[in-house]
Amino acid sequence: MLQTSLWILSISIVTAASSRGEDNTLYNCTCHGEHCSGNTCIGKRCFVTEQLLENDQVFRVRGCFTTNLPEQCNSKTKVSEARCCSSHFCNANMTIFPPKEKPEVTSLVLVTVLPIVLFLIIAVLFIFLFWKLRGKSRKKSLARLIDFGNIDIVNASTVGDSTLGDLLDDYCTTGSGSGLPFLVQRTVARQVTLVECVGKGRYGEVWRGTWQGENVAVKIFSSRDEQSWFRETEIYNTVLLRHENILGFIASDMTSRNSSTQLWLITHYHDSGSLYDYLQRNTLNPEDCLQLAVSIICGLVHLHVEIFGTQGKPAIAHRDLKSRNILVKANKECCIADLGLAVIHSQTGDYLDIGNNPRVGTKRYMAPEVLDETVRTDSFESYKQTDVWAYGLVVWEICRRTIINGMVEDYKPPFYDVVPHDPSFEDMKKVVCIDQQRPNIPNTWCLDKVLSALTKIMRECWYQSPSARLTALRIKKTLNNLKNSLEQRKQEC
Ligand code: ADP
Ligand code: MG
Repeated sequence: MLQTSLWILSISIVTAASSRGEDNTLYNCTCHGEHCSGNTCIGKRCFVTEQLLENDQVFRVRGCFTTNLPEQCNSKTKVSEARCCSSHFCNANMTIFPPKEKPEVTSLVLVTVLPIVLFLIIAVLFIFLFWKLRGKSRKKSLARLIDFGNIDIVNASTVGDSTLGDLLDDYCTTGSGSGLPFLVQRTVARQVTLVECVGKGRYGEVWRGTWQGENVAVKIFSSRDEQSWFRETEIYNTVLLRHENILGFIASDMTSRNSSTQLWLITHYHDSGSLYDYLQRNTLNPEDCLQLAVSIICGLVHLHVEIFGTQGKPAIAHRDLKSRNILVKANKECCIADLGLAVIHSQTGDYLDIGNNPRVGTKRYMAPEVLDETVRTDSFESYKQTDVWAYGLVVWEICRRTIINGMVEDYKPPFYDVVPHDPSFEDMKKVVCIDQQRPNIPNTWCLDKVLSALTKIMRECWYQSPSARLTALRIKKTLNNLKNSLEQRKQEC
């Protein structure tokens, strides 16, 4: 409709113009539209009219004006316009409205899809690089800590693929003590996140924490037990103590928070908790029972013996051995913890270092000579003998939880039947020294090879006379022989 009216307008202009006439020059013009009788026309002016249609397309008419009227070329609205020119075919390529180009499919792809694809490629690359670097930085974070402390103990090439455990092993063979250099320990400690409290002891709390995604145990000492922290820190840092049956040390740290001192000891974390916890929840078969007893004596022998040479260690007596200070590992072996009361002895260096901890051992596990105060505090041998007494009590706790002929005892602590819940020194002294009582041995234990062997050992740990007791080394040898003979018999069957 609009197209037709514009065309009629053009034609009427052509007709009206022809009746006047001033400049008589005629031009050949391009003619395109329904009014044309061919591709060309002759007139005094060439013209083009354009009209913008709704779909953004242009309706264009070309032709000739036979008159020279100025208003002919002045028709202009938002959507339509006419233009004139005066030369041959000057309207041939003339356009008015700029062509609205339809984007081509290829350019559409370039404009929209390409940036998205590029973005995705870059994002994938970033994620990949981030993932790679994160893995590397986790592995190398301890190496960076070494830089932080300006300590160059570990060769960088040994750090590459190591976990915390591997690195600790590296330090163990290069440093003097069992762990990391002090500055590294402090840095590690301050990067630990506490997750949950797993136990409250007599003198503090134990938390499960994480360091770089690995579980660690954090023992937070109360200020009244700072001497235990000092002693344990000192021993772990001066003595090469890494052994599968001694709790693995990671770091020690002292911080000042709200004007009070916080003392942390960070060690390996063992999900099963202490042997005390473990025995409450689990019963054992004789094999497990022997494995627990063997692993504890292996740890105790490692403490008790002095090892000579560059990788050597002085002899150490624990002085607070009990089921709460022994942890159960995932492989059902034990490791000995809590060296806060330990004494150190060296034959070569000829010294006995008993520390200056006012704490005493756990009364329930005290040997008769400690209870009647006849113990020779100047002799290292006597400290080892008190450990052997306590070992016998721990083995008794383990044996009670072992199933023999379908029978098993409840978990009970030693002397549960003769002293109160929190026995006093005097309570224990009366039972152990005066009455010379020993834990009860059920008759069923003699029915089993393991339990009867362990019973014999227990009895030899509990002699009143300290020097009559077995040594840890002797116990270890006896139990290893028993273990080997059992394994041999199993193979023969
Ligand atoms: P206590 O003072 O009675 O010897 P501790 O303070 O040594 O007790 O430990 C309290 C409890 O925390 C333990 O009985 C045990 O359940 C838990 N615990 C201690 N150390 C660890 C560890 N390294 N991994 C897991 N649990 C631990
Ligand atoms: Mg403890």
